[in-house]
Amino acid sequence: MFLRELTASPDHIKGAGPATIRALARAGITSVGGLLCRYPRDWEDRSVTVPLADFRRHPSVCTVVRVLAHDWFGFGRMKTLKVYVEDASARAVLVCFNRPFLEKQLTVGKQFRLWGRFFYKYGEIQSTMFEVEPLENAGAAETLPETVAESSRGFGRILPVYPLSAGLTQGLLRKLIRTALSQYAAPLEDELPAAIIRRDGLLPKARALRAIHFPASMEELDLARKTLIYEELFYLEVLVGRRAMERRPAGNSDAAASPTRASGTPAPLQRRLLERLPFTLTPGQEEAAAEINRDMDGPFPMARLLQGDVGSGKTLVSFLAALRAIEAGGQAALMAPTELLARQHAENAAALLEPLGVRIAFLTGNIKAAGRTPLLKSLAAGDVDMVVGTHALFSRDVVYRSLKLVVVDEQHRFGVTQRQAIMEKGHSSLVSPGMPDLLMMSATPIPRTLALTVFGDLDVSVIRGLPPGRKPVKTHLARESNEGKVYDFVGRELAAGRQAYFVYPLIEAADSGDLKDAESMAERLATTVFPQYKTALVHSRLDEEEKRKTMEAFRRGEVKALVATSVVEVGVDVPNASCMVIEHAERFGLSALHQLRGRVGRGAEQSYCFLVYSDEGPDGDGLTETGKTRLRVMLENSDGFVIAEEDLKLRGPGQITGIEQSGYLALGIADPVRDAGELARARADAFAMLEADPGLLAPDHRCVAGVLERVPPFSQVVM
Ligand code: ADP
Ligand code: MG
Repeated sequence: MFLRELTASPDHIKGAGPATIRALARAGITSVGGLLCRYPRDWEDRSVTVPLADFRRHPSVCTVVRVLAHDWFGFGRMKTLKVYVEDASARAVLVCFNRPFLEKQLTVGKQFRLWGRFFYKYGEIQSTMFEVEPLENAGAAETLPETVAESSRGFGRILPVYPLSAGLTQGLLRKLIRTALSQYAAPLEDELPAAIIRRDGLLPKARALRAIHFPASMEELDLARKTLIYEELFYLEVLVGRRAMERRPAGNSDAAASPTRASGTPAPLQRRLLERLPFTLTPGQEEAAAEINRDMDGPFPMARLLQGDVGSGKTLVSFLAALRAIEAGGQAALMAPTELLARQHAENAAALLEPLGVRIAFLTGNIKAAGRTPLLKSLAAGDVDMVVGTHALFSRDVVYRSLKLVVVDEQHRFGVTQRQAIMEKGHSSLVSPGMPDLLMMSATPIPRTLALTVFGDLDVSVIRGLPPGRKPVKTHLARESNEGKVYDFVGRELAAGRQAYFVYPLIEAADSGDLKDAESMAERLATTVFPQYKTALVHSRLDEEEKRKTMEAFRRGEVKALVATSVVEVGVDVPNASCMVIEHAERFGLSALHQLRGRVGRGAEQSYCFLVYSDEGPDGDGLTETGKTRLRVMLENSDGFVIAEEDLKLRGPGQITGIEQSGYLALGIADPVRDAGELARARADAFAMLEADPGLLAPDHRCVAGVLERVPPFSQVVM
């Protein structure tokens, strides 16, 4: 039996009542297996003595003390008991907030076992978080034993510390999980090939699971962690590997090195586009386009991730790819995360590609039946060569005549099951169905470690460098109290014919009232700050038609100052805009700040980004340490890759833009950044296994096949 087969409801656990079951369900735990996978976030070692004198060097003290005296401070209901204690090493004070009953228990002269977190205050070693237990064999406190004898309150053991939620206490979870382990753990089968368990000296599954919750020693805990981390990463890479092999059958994993390597020279349509451009490709674009051409001419469907910093010119590269697909008699689809961006792409495509005879269509969820029906007809008939839109491109009723290329722009914005739906469209093409070529684009650089996991089956192209003539954006920090100077500066830019963005964290005024919002500021900028210029407001709650009109007016230069929320974060391309003012910049994440700043610096003029921050929140908490660090990172760096690495450091891998929201990684205990070494090994093992035994038929691989059968599709890795 495998762990994920423990689907029985937790009410089968002895002693779990209805209230507990409800609390578990609220925490997302609906099965015994789910409960056992609720790994501790920490462990308290109460098995080893830590004397009071050592409180600074350990997270907690675990010792035997004698009660010296009682004292009270405060009055009335605030009256609080202080208990003076000492062990063989030092004296300390237990501050018994809300625990007056301890007066009777902790009688003067008696000995107790004590566990607690201590700190130094008012010249005393103090604790407010502690547990005590009477010591039966009195007289032992003179010399402290090395290890603490086991007891009901957890003394003498290593105790798990669980992440809690409403209705779930440490005590309850400890009891439940301990019971569940004794009822269910024994028959659990190993999920890793025996050869790997042997090679790395890992634990059998049942023991690893017991030990992760209730380890007998810190050494056993280490082994349990190692086992479970490795197991998670191994399965992650097995899924990645299987997807890679769907594209490239085993034995062909290195097609690029094969002698029939495709040349990737530009096709006639591509050449014609290049000739019509007022500029030449940057070396990075050139390189990426050639790689894509080779993929598209090659024997296997392309699956390529195109990374390039904001403004590096990815759109053009995707247009070149589209031309190759079209020239080969197929259709291309370009999907963008917002309607705003999709429309901009469609307009660009129309301007650049229609003159070459390419028939372009625009499709989003907002297009009503009257327009939609004929459009779908022409897609199925092949009267459209390239369709640009939102995820509506892949809704059920859309049928392609021959979908050959799918481009996903800002791919990190898309959710879990999209890749599957996209692939389906290729398979259900009316003419020569098959897996389409896939080009994913992202300005959010994916750190190497994550590239091995989430995108582990993709080839990667990187566009380094920006088109020539771009001047780096000058970034300035400004306190909110200096905003007047910022407005003056922007005013001079507007007077010189340039345009500006003003970005706010909120759409409308919030009740708590300390943050500026886009609506009120649009009003203020229009009436008092820049009455002589036309301003406009755009945010996600406006309807698409209104957004479209506003953006068009801004693009044409009629609107001089655009007041917005982070809707303008992705993709928007208005080269004449030279100022980006982000107010309450401390509220935005690093990747959002980088994307926003990337909206300017797209033309030949010098551009500026002002990060306006407030260092006084309602409780003086305006600027947190992380907030400060983020602003500093933005001030000192312009390279998106560096900023992404800093982001990773600040937030941890689970939080990387897009990864968390779209459920890319559902890891319980592994951390692909911290465990990068393990990850590389797991990847090598998984790929070697799949290469040698794609059907997982070898006896030692049957457990893997067994687990995979029970993995719901796309539960762990997507895109
Ligand atoms: P991103 O990579 O952020 O999606 P875009 O594709 O929006 O960047 O390109 C940014 C701007 O750079 C566009 O206005 C585009 O026309 C322009 N551009 C693209 N390639 C070049 C080039 N080789 N030389 C000059 N400008 C370019
Ligand atoms: Mg773009």
